[in-house]
Amino acid sequence: MEVYVDNNATTKVDEDVLNEMLPYLKESFANPSSLYESGKQTRNAINNARTNVAKLLNAEDDEIIFTASATESNVTAIMSAARNSNGKKRIITSKMEHASILETMNYLETIGFDIVYLDVDDKGRISSEDLKNAINEDTFLIAIMYANNELGNIYPIKEFCQIAHEHNVLFHCDCTQAVGKIKVDVKDLGVDTVAFSGHKIHAPKGVAALYVKNGTPYTPLIFGHQENNRRGGTENVPYIVGLGKAASKIVENNYQDIEKVRELRDYFEEQIKSKIDGIHIYGDVEHRIPNTSNIAFQNADGNELAIILEANNINLSNGSACNTTEPKPSDVLVACHANLKEYFPIRVSFDGNNTKEQVDYFINKLVMNVNMLRRRK
Ligand code: PMP
Repeated sequence: MEVYVDNNATTKVDEDVLNEMLPYLKESFANPSSLYESGKQTRNAINNARTNVAKLLNAEDDEIIFTASATESNVTAIMSAARNSNGKKRIITSKMEHASILETMNYLETIGFDIVYLDVDDKGRISSEDLKNAINEDTFLIAIMYANNELGNIYPIKEFCQIAHEHNVLFHCDCTQAVGKIKVDVKDLGVDTVAFSGHKIHAPKGVAALYVKNGTPYTPLIFGHQENNRRGGTENVPYIVGLGKAASKIVENNYQDIEKVRELRDYFEEQIKSKIDGIHIYGDVEHRIPNTSNIAFQNADGNELAIILEANNINLSNGSACNTTEPKPSDVLVACHANLKEYFPIRVSFDGNNTKEQVDYFINKLVMNVNMLRRRK
């Protein structure tokens, strides 16, 4: 049996998404900027996808820009805010953010921006008091994610946004791990810019979206006439169509499937707890996206477990920053003061393709190998 439980890394392309894309990889190949009929058709296909993505986020169509990755969307939003900061220098972000945010911040620091990286508590939570205290006259942007890729933590973005706007500060939200797992309503949250990616919601890799609230100052990262002068480059029509289909499927399903995923995740954690002791679940367990379990077993190293499980056809992530021979714990776990000597976790992230049979097989192998590693110690 094969078990793929690494859906926060990427997801399988959905069959309906693929079928929707295929005509645009075959006969409907016209450049959407071309004025003849087939060009108009591909232009319409893009606009239809835009409507579907806008619906998913409760945004207006003209607030959606297609990009190639959530990385690009994040970098575009931050660089745009920095270029329109009117001389202000301070950005507040958190230690939980994805590398695409943190590395952009690192770059901005080298050219004179003042970046505040908010600390988190042992559960990876960000305090609104810390956020308020970090804001000064020089602050123009706050960038905090909606859901964390490693722990699954959901952050109180609506409250953080209100704090930002009380101080006339823009709010960028990386929603890459939130979209499809929890409702992302940009109007309700009040966010100014949002990034998310197709390959986390069963569309292919290489397509993503950036939401820019109407009226937000904006400078492109990639210049060109496409996307209403906001992102240059001939549009990746098939992939944009795929993203639109994935978005419409989430809206149609109205988050019913994700409840089944939550049941599987909860079943997994309950079963594991009933079968072995010395377990620690990292993160803000009560406020997590429904598919994620960052779980550690005392004296059974997550790196070793991931390797053994792979030999049993179970694919998941461990708590390492990269897969080198000498694994370095992820910055997120370090920021949470994780006791990694004793509790080095694995990250399990389910999706709707996982079955109870798969989860039972996984539990069985996990329990067996945790016990084996403990006996070896
Ligand atoms: N933000 C978060 C929270 C992510 O998990 C990821 C992907 N791991 C990204 C951004 C980057 O997405 P992409 O692969 O589309 O660049």
